[in-house]
Amino acid sequence: MLLLFTRMPFGVLPSVAAGLTLMMTHPLYARPWALHHASRRCLWCGGPATAGTGASAGTALAVTDPRGTVSWSACSDEHRVSLVAMLQFAARHGTLLRVGILGTVTVSLIAAILADRGRLGPFYVSDAKALFKLGVGLTVLPLGWLGPRLGERNGAASTPAGLADLGRGRTESADALSAPFPLHLPALIGVNAVLWLFRLIGLIWLAQGAFHAVERVSRG
Ligand SMILES: [Zn+2]
Repeated sequence: MLLLFTRMPFGVLPSVAAGLTLMMTHPLYARPWALHHASRRCLWCGGPATAGTGASAGTALAVTDPRGTVSWSACSDEHRVSLVAMLQFAARHGTLLRVGILGTVTVSLIAAILADRGRLGPFYVSDAKALFKLGVGLTVLPLGWLGPRLGERNGAASTPAGLADLGRGRTESADALSAPFPLHLPALIGVNAVLWLFRLIGLIWLAQGAFHAVERVSRG
């Protein structure tokens, strides 16, 4: 999906249309799959989470995202703490993350379509692609690098034990965690892997976007 937006392999309009179709329809097939495995796979590492009974039943982690509340799993208390920390960070900066990603996608795709038709003068499709990389890169970098770290420090639960208790879902919605974005996509490969992608792609896109901007300005 991101390749469709950054490379536009089929030309601007078809690529944007294909990318948006994927964006709109993935909940239809990705979410049921993720929910089906939610109780068996660790949301953090994607490994098997042995959701047993009794004492080990505490591996469940209730999270409310824009598409509803889901009871995910963590394979260990360590991974549960990381998940809670990341979710707390994302929830605290939810508006920024939403504006950063959805705003960038909207603005740069509209700009790409207009530039493709020559409506934006000296602003070319390549500039819109660079804008996309810069905006998304700037948004996901802090989430990738700071999310799991800063999340732990603030909030009501500052101890790992307190964090581990959050979202156990004893009263379901009352102490459920929340996420600004649907979690079924990160659930496919595990949140930890997604954060690593954010860290690496964020750095690469930021560099590429900045390089493009410098090159354009110096060329005039
Ligand atoms: Zn795990």
